[in-house]
Amino acid sequence: MTLTADIASETLLDWFSETARDLPWRRPDCDGWGVLISEIMLQQTPVARVEPIWHEWLERWPKPSALAAATQAEVLRAWGKLGYPRRALRLHTAADVIAREHGDVVPDDVDTLLALPGIGAYTARAVAAFAYGKRTPVVDTNVRRVVARAVHGAGDAGPASNTKDMADVEALLPADERRAATMSAALMELGALVCTARAPQCADCPIVDDCAWVRAGKPAYDGPAKPVQKFAGTDRQVRGLLLDVLRGTDEPVPKTRLDVVWDRAGQRDRCLDSLLTDGLVEQTADGRFALPGEH
Ligand code: SF4
Repeated sequence: MTLTADIASETLLDWFSETARDLPWRRPDCDGWGVLISEIMLQQTPVARVEPIWHEWLERWPKPSALAAATQAEVLRAWGKLGYPRRALRLHTAADVIAREHGDVVPDDVDTLLALPGIGAYTARAVAAFAYGKRTPVVDTNVRRVVARAVHGAGDAGPASNTKDMADVEALLPADERRAATMSAALMELGALVCTARAPQCADCPIVDDCAWVRAGKPAYDGPAKPVQKFAGTDRQVRGLLLDVLRGTDEPVPKTRLDVVWDRAGQRDRCLDSLLTDGLVEQTADGRFALPGEH
């Protein structure tokens, strides 16, 4: 027997109710706006780094209209060092549409959420499930890994396939909407804390007796190699250093102020160009550089 919806309902929901982390965006008083911000922030960034910034954002911008009224420079500054700062501008744009077209309330159904600018398949479903208790498959990397192991007996998930991945997770959701939404959170939690990529803690896993991978003797993953995410020396690091300079000043800066952050000129200039193209940095008429709208 491998993991099925019935087994998952019996074991995973109990486990989740007993062990789930008390995260602020999971509390009953957190509305769709708080959940949306958390989901965008958490996409590439660990919980410990997101939590303080999430609190700051909700205090400063408790409604989408409040964020929409901020400047892009303010939003990028408040994003701090969460990384992948285009996410901040995406949230800013989505907030504007929510404020103007949806009565300042984050929509509760997947299709309307998907129609918002910058909101993809994962985020739309996560918000519908976690903020509004909808029954919809929420598939992130952690969930794909749990399904690969527990259902398919593979050591890790292969290349993503939206349709198949969602069908796999959908098959594990209970029929009841609320319980299904909790199951989505439970699968994510299991993948994040127990069924981790490098060191799954099968002895502590609530579904170990029904895990296809354990039953098969834990065969090694033999699918395509996954790209290793490194940071040091990458364009991502250089872009972050350039943005740090602009976040730290209210005035446009000359290029010489940016040139000191990285000594490889070719890479530095390429990164500055990409920030300009992405709308994260602007150039003034006299050739200096600033956060968008700040000159
Ligand atoms: S038993 Fe191990 S491999 Fe299977 S789901 Fe649990 S942690 Fe993952």
